[in-house]
Amino acid sequence: MSEHETIRGWLSLAASGVLEADEQRRVEQHVATCDACRSELEGWQACAHELARLPAPAVPSHLVERTRARVLEQFAAAAERR
Ligand SMILES: [Zn+2]
Repeated sequence: MSEHETIRGWLSLAASGVLEADEQRRVEQHVATCDACRSELEGWQACAHELARLPAPAVPSHLVERTRARVLEQFAAAAERR
């Protein structure tokens, strides 16, 4: 898998702030040189920002946690396939 494809798979996680520090650094280094990933990351960040702005009752925290856990599971599965 190319660096571009790897980073692309991490963008939503990077926007959520759940990547490891060294992975986050790789994302930042990549988006500095890749317009496609940078605009996609900005989209995810806008989305994360909107979610954060919602009143707490609108997004039950258990739902957020479950969604995040599922994303991380899929990410781990994708990482194992590499
Ligand atoms: Zn890229």
